[in-house]
Amino acid sequence: MLHPTRPLSNKLRFGSVLTYTRNMLGGDNQDSSVAICQVIQNNKDWVAEMQAKNPKYFTNLAKGQSPKLLWIGCSDSRMAVDVLTQTNPGDIFIHRNIANRIPSEDLNVLSVIEYAVKHLKVEHVIVAGHTSCGGVKTALSNASVGILDHWLRPIKDLYIANEEELNELPENERIDRLGELNVIQGVRTVSKLPVVHEAWKEGRELRIHGWMLQLHSGLLKDLDVSVASPKQVESIFKLSTGAH
Ligand SMILES: [Zn+2]
Repeated sequence: MLHPTRPLSNKLRFGSVLTYTRNMLGGDNQDSSVAICQVIQNNKDWVAEMQAKNPKYFTNLAKGQSPKLLWIGCSDSRMAVDVLTQTNPGDIFIHRNIANRIPSEDLNVLSVIEYAVKHLKVEHVIVAGHTSCGGVKTALSNASVGILDHWLRPIKDLYIANEEELNELPENERIDRLGELNVIQGVRTVSKLPVVHEAWKEGRELRIHGWMLQLHSGLLKDLDVSVASPKQVESIFKLSTGAH
């Protein structure tokens, strides 16, 4: 059986700057760290367990993938997608980055979305943030964390756009509400992408959802902002039906 939280016996060491950055991004709780040598052994144990259950498990897995879900979430180590959704390898196509951002000019996330929607033909895109997000917390502060300052700057803009609402909240709630607004913005960004509208034009079922992982309970909260049709998107983003 896999034991992802085995006690640490061989901690990796970080320099002071990296440690500072890690702490700012929510990595100050190291209770669940795992020894690097244990990771390889855990993998061997898992392979043996899966083969014992089904000798053809890996032969079948190697044949290909046809996931129905695309998950775009935060890189935070506590967002263990397979574990918290109790899904199996092959079930979810995944993209993660700090603070689950979806810049409309970022080739990385755009490539993942295009491949998932156009070729894998996923039926659901889930934009998932989480409470106590270190990326969002950092964006709300005046700390400088190197290149991340650029990556997180749009979250500062999102704060400014919603400053009145956010400033009425206590700090923890402010971080989580800004995290929700960041997810909602991500849903809106995905719903405007041409590849998504092409799928809808083909009559395919494709829903974009916004969820928040509640770290204190482990539960996923549906923000109820799902988009399933071009009718829910401003007309300027809809594709023309005529040929050019
Ligand atoms: Zn996060």
